Amino acid sequence: MNSFTYVRANDVADAVRLGSGADAKFLGGGTNLVDLMRETLERPSALVDVSGLSSAITEQADGSLLIGAAARNTAVAEHIAVRTRYPLLSRAILAGASGQIRNMATVGGNLLQRTRCTYFYDDDGSRCNKRVPGQGCDAVEGFNRIHAILGASAACVATHPSDMCVALAALGAIVHVTGSDGERTIEFADLHVLPGEHPEVETTLRRGELIIAVELPVLSFAKHSTYRKVRDRASYAFALISVAAAMEVDNGAVKDIRLALGGVAHKPWRALKLEASLKGRPATDESFLAAATEELSDAKPLAHNGFKIELARRTIVAVLAELAGYRS
Ligand SMILES: Cc1cc2nc3c(=O)[nH]c(=O)nc-3n(C[C@H](O)[C@H](O)[C@H](O)COP(=O)(O)OP(=O)(O)OC[C@H]3O[C@@H](n4cnc5c(N)ncnc54)[C@H](O)[C@@H]3O)c2cc1C
Repeated sequence: MNSFTYVRANDVADAVRLGSGADAKFLGGGTNLVDLMRETLERPSALVDVSGLSSAITEQADGSLLIGAAARNTAVAEHIAVRTRYPLLSRAILAGASGQIRNMATVGGNLLQRTRCTYFYDDDGSRCNKRVPGQGCDAVEGFNRIHAILGASAACVATHPSDMCVALAALGAIVHVTGSDGERTIEFADLHVLPGEHPEVETTLRRGELIIAVELPVLSFAKHSTYRKVRDRASYAFALISVAAAMEVDNGAVKDIRLALGGVAHKPWRALKLEASLKGRPATDESFLAAATEELSDAKPLAHNGFKIELARRTIVAVLAELAGYRS
């Protein structure tokens, strides 16, 4: 048994002070961290419970929405401003986990949940560079049906599991963090990193840094958005492929678009090539298919996940046709 201490932070300063100790970990809803501790994949010596810190969801003077990191996933999905102004986020959250888990899970914890790669969990017989840096990766030559097709490396082919994060990537959210060096903000695209040679490094957070809030910038056409998740079961399953998209169509042409993919990479994948190539193009299956194909042109399938490329292409086209209003 690994022993650890538990303490509840009274405020942000308290959390930062308590979380600065070596091997301390922040605790949100515990729905991922406690599982990992049970499996002895995480062995913190101290848990700093930050679930009592700000959970407020507030509209700021410039119209952006600030969501406290301790806000529960359910509260975010149900919030009227999220449902009406950012429906893709509400739908992404509701596509994940179960009602009970969403009631416990916090925004901060959702952002930092760890991969569901089966080789990462199998510390009895499999090699994993995330678990033991430099050990090797058995997923590369193993059964890699759920693994990455974009941005992977020889050291790691794991995917990021979060649904919420795919919507936040599409929205260009801003993450507010604080630590012993003070407060700073991180563009969502810069929070998670690709694996490279160091898949044990998953984010650009500094040691002991606490996520305090996530900001949703004003994006007027985000009210016209959706999230579609393709998975093996209708509930309680992680995405094989997911698409979060917002699109504005004017006179039959794409005026503006945001799109991100889940289930394809070590981080939520913002489809920047697709976005650039679609602006000004007719809102038709033909344009959507061409842009999806361009976005996926760098995809590198493994032995068992080649189907994800076609699945991603078709899901993108289906989602954009729905947003364009000519198919449901
Ligand atoms: C059975 C099951 C099915 C699931 N299915 C899905 C799914 O389909 N889609 C999906 O997206 N997710 C799914 N999840 C994952 C779930 O969404 C996450 O477990 C949850 O979002 C994590 O939030 P938490 O608050 O419980 O985090 P915790 O478990 O408390 O923490 C997770 C990590 O975040 C860190 N952390 C927490 N708060 C902060 C903070 N404020 N600042 C810095 N670090 C922090 C912790 O130290 C830890 O490393 C599933 C989980 C389970 C158990």
